[in-house]
Amino acid sequence: MIINLAYIVACVFFILGIKKLGKVKTARQGNFLSALGMLIAVIAVFCEKEVLGTWTTDWYQNGYLWCGLAIAVGSVIGIVWAKKVKMTGMPELVALFNGFGGLASLLLAFSEFLKNPTGEELVTSTATGLTILIGAITFTGSVLAWGKLSEKITGRAILFKGQKAINLFLLLVAVAGAAIYVIPGIDEGTKLIAVLALTAIALILGITVVLPIGGGDMPVVISLLNSFSGLAASMAGFIISNTVLIVAGCLVGASGVVLTLIMCKAMNRSIGNLLFSGFGATSSSKKGTGEEPKAIAVEDAYLILEAAASVVFIPGYGMAVAQAQHAVKELAARLEENGAEVSFAVHPVAGRMPGHMNVLLAEADIPYEQLKTMEEVNPTMPTQDVAIVVGANDVVNPAAETDTTSPIYGMPIIKAHEAKTVFVLKRGKGKGFSGIENELFTMKNNLMIYGDAKATITALASEFGSE
Ligand code: NDP
Repeated sequence: MIINLAYIVACVFFILGIKKLGKVKTARQGNFLSALGMLIAVIAVFCEKEVLGTWTTDWYQNGYLWCGLAIAVGSVIGIVWAKKVKMTGMPELVALFNGFGGLASLLLAFSEFLKNPTGEELVTSTATGLTILIGAITFTGSVLAWGKLSEKITGRAILFKGQKAINLFLLLVAVAGAAIYVIPGIDEGTKLIAVLALTAIALILGITVVLPIGGGDMPVVISLLNSFSGLAASMAGFIISNTVLIVAGCLVGASGVVLTLIMCKAMNRSIGNLLFSGFGATSSSKKGTGEEPKAIAVEDAYLILEAAASVVFIPGYGMAVAQAQHAVKELAARLEENGAEVSFAVHPVAGRMPGHMNVLLAEADIPYEQLKTMEEVNPTMPTQDVAIVVGANDVVNPAAETDTTSPIYGMPIIKAHEAKTVFVLKRGKGKGFSGIENELFTMKNNLMIYGDAKATITALASEFGSE
């Protein structure tokens, strides 16, 4: 009774946590509440009869010892890793977390199979089969996504002939393997072969499904795999009849799906198109215009900014690399003191993870009210005196609207090019995540300010100071 109550409290904390994570202002609190919910759930699990029953002086049989050891090792790795990881490396870390979640569910399901090789109980054996299938796909798919995002392997989509047919075939064979385990009356030997085949094929499927996805689609895949890891955990909850695991898994699964759909909408893609079209395998057929972008010195840029009545900052991945958010806030303050109206245009997939820019701008205490979504800011763009693109590239690339051969064609962009004057702050000729040219850089109203974004912004702010 008390344990069930603790599970309900944990679930309430998870739900409140997710709700608070939806807003920048309350996100920290949301994270804390979810972590508290998890702590309550872990303590409750330890107090469960089945776990309590494993207390024995025989160390090998002692469940507490093994669980404690796993928690200690996992915590040390988690703390060290979380402290070491750079903000720009978060998507890779999330990809690995998803993968480990899938692996944990897979191992749990596999141990259930070893305990119960005949699979007599329908609900448990169905859940076991599905957990193995989804857990294995999540594991290898996530490891591959990690490799792509961390550039251990090419981030581009890799296509091969008959890919869709092969994937469909593998999926059908895997489902058949799961079905053989569930169907009563089949001998144990056949069931063993079926489950081993299911596991191996599902592991391969994770790779073959993620291989044809690349470039700017990777964040959506991470989100989808996150959802899968939740689904696998939820199924695993049915295997061990643990309500909190079922609920928490469903929450992760559902929120992952919602995030995936939001991101698909932000890129103007359907999930089917994203999973099967092999976007990013080819680059745009349009090469650069051959023109050199016009560059401008900080001192000259200052003169334009000084006369501007409205300025919009468009942050991108380069702002995260340069850690320029505090300098951006400083420059925004100088511009406001000078009488300009300042706003920040945040593209949903700017940076390398959903909400990346919101997190950085919130870290610099930039008022939430100044952050504008793409939909809010685009209609105002022609009236903006200056748009300052801080290390963004793909999310302001007009090719997304004009070049049907571009791998980012169809992705809604922030229309920086419609502002009266555009400053693009970047270090050199580096391309964006999609690896394509950006014709914004050679447009008439565009001026490049080369250099590290933080150094450039700091120099611009000090121009105002040294007036
Ligand atoms: P991009 O990756 O398109 O471009 C970043 C630009 O920043 C580069 O052109 C680079 O040019 C510049 N840059 C790098 N370091 C610095 C620095 N220190 N100072 C100044 N500039 C710098 O970024 P966007 O944010 O525009 O677009 C994000 C892309 O990533 C999209 O294609 C998106 O789909 C994809 N993506 C998004 C994820 C998400 O969830 N948000 C996750 C994974 C991918 P240079 O080298 O010349 O300085």
